Amino acid sequence: MQFIDLQSQQERIRGAIMENIARVLAHGQYILGPEVRELETRLAEFVGTKHAVSCASGTDALLMPLMAYGVGPGDAVFTTPFTFVATAEVISLLGATPVFVDIDPVTFNMDPERLKDAVTALKECNPKTHPLPKGFEKLTPRGVIAVDLFGQCADYGRINAVARAHGLFVIEDAAQSFGAEYKGARACSLADVAATSFFPAKPLGCYGDGGMVFTDSDDMASVLDSIRVHGKGSDKYDNVRIGINGRCDTLQAAILLAKFAIFPEEITLRQDVASRYSELLGASGKVVCPSVSPGNLSAWAQYSVLCEDRDRVLNALKAEKIPSAVYYPKPLHVQTAYAYLAYRQGDFPASEHAAARIFSLPMHPYLCAQDQERIAATVLRSVA
Ligand SMILES: *Cc1c(COP(=O)(O)O)cnc(C)c1O
Repeated sequence: MQFIDLQSQQERIRGAIMENIARVLAHGQYILGPEVRELETRLAEFVGTKHAVSCASGTDALLMPLMAYGVGPGDAVFTTPFTFVATAEVISLLGATPVFVDIDPVTFNMDPERLKDAVTALKECNPKTHPLPKGFEKLTPRGVIAVDLFGQCADYGRINAVARAHGLFVIEDAAQSFGAEYKGARACSLADVAATSFFPAKPLGCYGDGGMVFTDSDDMASVLDSIRVHGKGSDKYDNVRIGINGRCDTLQAAILLAKFAIFPEEITLRQDVASRYSELLGASGKVVCPSVSPGNLSAWAQYSVLCEDRDRVLNALKAEKIPSAVYYPKPLHVQTAYAYLAYRQGDFPASEHAAARIFSLPMHPYLCAQDQERIAATVLRSVA
């Protein structure tokens, strides 16, 4: 059994993937070839933004808009400690400071009330009302990176309102939520800028690294276009700003075009898999199944549950050769890399509570009912 079965998907569309790869080998435009533009056009149309700028990874898709906003030393960017490290890493890479905001314990996404508290505490230099990082006295609030964890969109209605009231930009980290919906709008269209990832295991993955930035802003799109090619101006030997080599490979775009053709259907299949898990596990009372807020459609990047006896369950799954994973065992505020911010255990109780109890079960569009029944039986037997 696979945790994420990419092989079943490949078997469905191998012909189209091979044809698309062959077309790239024939035209030879390996860098920013026609498939890159085609993918940008199609995905912008799908999510409902004016622009899409593809790039080399989900991490670059977060880094580039921060660079475009001119984020640097002395700037505070609010984000969640319960996420993959890349979300906060890009803030630190630019010399800015991540200011962590605890999650909603039900959705695992940034709690808009805590965001309000954090911004106010920072503006008033008052760490008594919200935990603040070392050096907070010298920080200026600049923006927010909210994360759509496990495929469910954060509450952008409320997050954007808090940000607007304080003049902050909002970036949607949609690395796990491509294909999700929030109140009738698609993930990647919910903030000033959104970043997604095409890492193979993400809902829409390529066969290597890739990412994309989405925005309605013409200015942002044109700066991103420059940043991804070393800060180019009129051409790549005219350098008007500091940029990176952040391009998406034509071959990866060609593969993604073949995968995107069946992507909407796969999102539907993911709903079926998730509902079946919830039916099988929900009634036990021993496992807390994921909860999707009204108006949301999750992309189900992960099916993550909470259990008081996590180690027992993980061992039982392992004994049955059923793959599982823990996203994430250690929140960022207690990671060694962030020791310099001098946060303490206890600062973000909802993140710490989730990190101690959460684990993810196999999740992909091709997971069959028999496998799910075996997984659920193993989980339930181990908590009985
Ligand atoms: C995967 C992921 C990223 C980084 O994407 P890469 O393509 O691996 O660079 C960023 N944020 C979150 C929440 C992710 O899950």
